[in-house]
Amino acid sequence: MQRIYLDSNATTPMRPEVVAAMLPVFTEDYGNPSSIHWFGQQAKALLDSARQHVARLIHAETSEIVFVSGGTEADNMAIRGIAESQKARGRHIITSKIEHHAVLHTCKDLEKQGYEVTWLGVSPDGVVNPEDVRRAIRPDTILISIMHANNEIGTIQPIEEIGQIAETADIYFHSDGVQSTGKIPVDVRKLKVDLYSISAHKIHGPKGVGALFVRKGTIVKPQLTGGGHERNRRSGTENVAGIVGFGVAAKMAREGLESEMAHVRALRDRLESQLKEKIDLIHVNAESAARLPNTSNIMVDFAEGEGLVISLDLKGVAVSTGSACSSGSLEPSHVLTAIGKTPDEAHGSLRFSLNAGNTVEEIDYVVEVLPRIVERLRELSPFYKRA
Ligand code: PLP
Repeated sequence: MQRIYLDSNATTPMRPEVVAAMLPVFTEDYGNPSSIHWFGQQAKALLDSARQHVARLIHAETSEIVFVSGGTEADNMAIRGIAESQKARGRHIITSKIEHHAVLHTCKDLEKQGYEVTWLGVSPDGVVNPEDVRRAIRPDTILISIMHANNEIGTIQPIEEIGQIAETADIYFHSDGVQSTGKIPVDVRKLKVDLYSISAHKIHGPKGVGALFVRKGTIVKPQLTGGGHERNRRSGTENVAGIVGFGVAAKMAREGLESEMAHVRALRDRLESQLKEKIDLIHVNAESAARLPNTSNIMVDFAEGEGLVISLDLKGVAVSTGSACSSGSLEPSHVLTAIGKTPDEAHGSLRFSLNAGNTVEEIDYVVEVLPRIVERLRELSPFYKRA
């Protein structure tokens, strides 16, 4: 059966060039970058080169890149690191209700430790209002953490404006850039962020590696102590192969950004317009907001998300839904409820997330099979019949 992967916000396939660059690290360039001998220095040179590529992708300096184990660790390091280094100044954090769980659960954990968190709502289009950020600032605010682009609905947040507000108020500003990096241009200076999280496996790199941009002069309490790697900011022998793969993925993401994302946007727009034509009672979430070019979150009335995902999977198409089945109960997505959807509406959502390897033929296949799937599921819905 033909398999079509449209779940690239979950993870992406590694590019062949990434794999090719990583392989010799396992067998030839296997030194420890902290060793002073030849093997160590070979590995150190590989790290340096990868650091340059990652820095260039987001317009940072190499000394501002800290390699970590992925987006989750980058978010934890930024938030916990600032919370701990600034606790004498205050214990108030501002974030939003649509953050990834890596930010959400970290802030919730800090609440248990005595920090206060302001959870900002978003517009029905899934966008944080910078004025809400300004109004939430208090004398004891130490950190603002607002994601650059949302993983479920793709909305791009006004990071530059929030960055200006944070700078004027002299408050540290972190942004989770895991979904935005490699999909839209990122310039950490223009965005005025102090901390910015990225993850390799979302940009055709390997899993288990990422980076935190830490602006020069920003004091982040290390979360891992040990040998003082990464300029004392994150101890632990570096994942050299992973970082080498990350470097190649970052270089290729930068070089291909414009053309690849134009291709992806055209496919996404084709998918949305054709599905709207062929299926009644469907809505594109956050349609009029600035969105990532690869992401489409579609609500299908009178059909259930898990049923749609499973039926599509049986036809060879991989997508995801806004509801996650956990411990027997269907929890609606916190992002969809934050944009005002009822749990029933949220349960009928489908997320398509594309990458540059997807083709027109794949999109046309989805447009061919989905209407019949929806029809079949709706036949089972007494509410649809009544409507
Ligand atoms: N932040 C966002 C917005 C994400 O989408 C993800 C992954 O889905 C993460 C953080 C976590 O990244 P990682 O899988 O590298 O830990």
